[in-house]
Amino acid sequence: MRKKLFAVTLSLALCTGLLAGCMSDSSSSSSSSSSMQSSSTMMDDVESGMSKVESDIQSGMSDMMDGSSSTSHSSSSEMSTSKAAAAAAALEDSAWATRLVNEANPLPEDFSIKTVMIEGYENRPFDARAADALEEMLADAETAGCKLYLVSAYRSVERQRNLFARKTQSFVNEGFPQEEAEKQAAQWVARPGTSEHNLGLAADIVSANWYSNHDDLTADFENTPEFEWLQAHCAEYGFILRYPKGKESVTGITYEPWHYRYVGKDAAAQIMAEGITLEEYTQQNA
Ligand SMILES: [Zn+2]
Repeated sequence: MRKKLFAVTLSLALCTGLLAGCMSDSSSSSSSSSSMQSSSTMMDDVESGMSKVESDIQSGMSDMMDGSSSTSHSSSSEMSTSKAAAAAAALEDSAWATRLVNEANPLPEDFSIKTVMIEGYENRPFDARAADALEEMLADAETAGCKLYLVSAYRSVERQRNLFARKTQSFVNEGFPQEEAEKQAAQWVARPGTSEHNLGLAADIVSANWYSNHDDLTADFENTPEFEWLQAHCAEYGFILRYPKGKESVTGITYEPWHYRYVGKDAAAQIMAEGITLEEYTQQNA
């Protein structure tokens, strides 16, 4: 315990000093930390502000496949049948983690998964198969002196439908015909089933300190040590920055430095190392 406290103190000191990032040595402790709970009142105001920024804006989807290489993995002839079968089974096992969800690949109406609440929060459900990885990442970041805050996690398709309907209604009230109102709403709120949050594997994560001074999620979160830490370490926990800068024409979504997606460690390592998107990864591994 004493050792842990020392490490935390040291990393806090470093984090507030000249270093841009946080300490990378966070392996010493990822034990449960009750201090993840935020005391800020603003942070309890989670979903209300989301529609404004969690836009999942859908422009340029038709360009989605442009520019990505189409190399596909051909199974090696040297691979034994059992190895090939094992590899196929492994791929099958991880398919849930790399499932592509976007406007062109919506989830079915009746999509459901088993979720658990993320520790330290009252209402942040996440896919039960990936919740440990998320909790570990949040705890390790804090140990490294970069306290993160989970703004949003799983949101059901039903809830997405309500958010979308509410936004659409606001445009109808302004005088737009229904169809046009829906188009306008889609600029702000993803259509039901097309948001990664409906999948249960997406997490909007920012710096707790930064968020206490911001009403909305904005791209200037990228100028924080917490973002640096996430960039450097998210793949170690199986997460990727899902909507990177410069890939808007591929993802169809504006740059979101706060939106992280669990894809599993292998896929995350490749995606982050190559600076590609899940769309491109999926195509490469098709
Ligand atoms: Zn998000």
